[in-house]
Amino acid sequence: MKAIRVHQTGGPEVLKLEDFELPPPGPGEVRMRNRAVGLNFIEVYQRTGLYQVPLPYTPGGESAGDVVAVGPGVTEFKPGDRVATPMGFGAYAEERNLAAAVLVKLPDAISYETAAAMMLKGLTVQYLLRSTYRVNPGDTILFHAAAGGVGLIACQWARHLGATVIGTVGDREKAKLAAEAGAHHTILYREEDFVARVAEITGGKKCHVVYDSVGKTTYPGSLDCLRPFGMFVSFGNASGAIDNFNILHLSQKGSLYATRPTLGTHVADRANYLKMCEDLFSVVASGAVKIPVHTRRPLAEAAEAHRALEARSTTGATVLLP
Ligand code: NDP
Repeated sequence: MKAIRVHQTGGPEVLKLEDFELPPPGPGEVRMRNRAVGLNFIEVYQRTGLYQVPLPYTPGGESAGDVVAVGPGVTEFKPGDRVATPMGFGAYAEERNLAAAVLVKLPDAISYETAAAMMLKGLTVQYLLRSTYRVNPGDTILFHAAAGGVGLIACQWARHLGATVIGTVGDREKAKLAAEAGAHHTILYREEDFVARVAEITGGKKCHVVYDSVGKTTYPGSLDCLRPFGMFVSFGNASGAIDNFNILHLSQKGSLYATRPTLGTHVADRANYLKMCEDLFSVVASGAVKIPVHTRRPLAEAAEAHRALEARSTTGATVLLP
């Protein structure tokens, strides 16, 4: 079968389409035929070496497809089941083996492409808005990179929860998309001073929570967008890792809270994982949150897909089709 293999860290060119033999699924594992694969920024961090992964490897966590075989001891899944997952490695491939514990059955109403665009991005929004900081009606939130894969889901869900949503975006086209997805206010943070604009939009009151996946270029400005006791949620580093975090800033800027969450911790407990999926599937089934797939590419174009994501030229989700 074909898979994208990474033998060394580096630029998008290290993503090579190769023939790769999968062993049979081991105890507790499922063999899955990937029908659609989600592209996520974490795969850039892993490819460049910012996040370390043992080499060689096949990238990708988020995928949806069909069970083709099960290993010893697997009782929850059988060949033919439609399944999806946000986790593990090996998604950039025609088939993968993965632990049954990270799979969920896909409701008939959810297509493979939709699932591949939401299992990682949508579950991330679920925990960010419902757990890390539980958004309440009337809250004002700042969400950076609001027209991205995670961002467009977050705008819809946060508005659905009754928050006032301020989204930062890289250009005017992205501002339009974020506004259509539910952002009440958009800020062109490459041209405008986002701290000053947040103060202006909120009449000086600022935000209850800032969700920041941009990292280096929005820090420490994001802290200045928070009201006293506000929550700084740093959940990504698209512009580079924050390297000047100083816990004293939290006291100086108003007894702030800060956290650096990751999806892995939230889905490690299977009961919690299934509850999160139920919440996500229900907001999608109700139509409150639509999952935007803006780009589809064959698996062989994984390198081009990474280039586009890093160049900030994508919006919404990109799906790779093996
Ligand atoms: P996006 O589609 O949001 O792409 C990243 C966006 O970040 C770009 O489109 C761009 O939007 C913005 N950006 C700002 N500065 C830069 C820069 N220097 N280089 C590249 N992009 C930049 O990606 P995803 O939806 O896959 O992920 C969004 C973020 O959420 C990522 O940081 C990711 O790591 C994080 N994440 C974290 C998870 C967790 O559990 N902790 C789970 C899932 C995602 P613009 O042009 O509008 O600025």
